[in-house]
Amino acid sequence: MLYKGYSVLTKPRILRHLGLIYNSAQAIYPFIICPGYIINESNNFQYLSILEHEATHLDRAKKFGILKWYLLYIFSPKFRLKEEVIAYRVKKKFLESKGVLFDVEKHARILSSNIYGKVVKYEEAVRLLSS
Ligand SMILES: [Zn+2]
Repeated sequence: MLYKGYSVLTKPRILRHLGLIYNSAQAIYPFIICPGYIINESNNFQYLSILEHEATHLDRAKKFGILKWYLLYIFSPKFRLKEEVIAYRVKKKFLESKGVLFDVEKHARILSSNIYGKVVKYEEAVRLLSS
């Protein structure tokens, strides 16, 4: 499957017991890697919004310079936060355009978690994702 010109690859189902490792999506240029159910339900706006988020990372990496983008994403918490806020805002806008509520508190919990290396406090994440 292609999404906005990027190949979407699915993770092997054998990983499904690994929780978040399986149930999350990654943008590894030029691929979006995600659990298979996201593709199987490609008319589900929540799932599509995940592809929107990942495609945003790939678009920005391509414009910015792929290697430079990934290095900064990995090593600079400030850059990682900025890029995630941009991608989450795209996701929010996408969901709202489909009449689906973007759960700010849920996304703020994720954004302020270990997943992103605790780059922001929860309250600040709520503020960033509310605007
Ligand atoms: Zn992201």
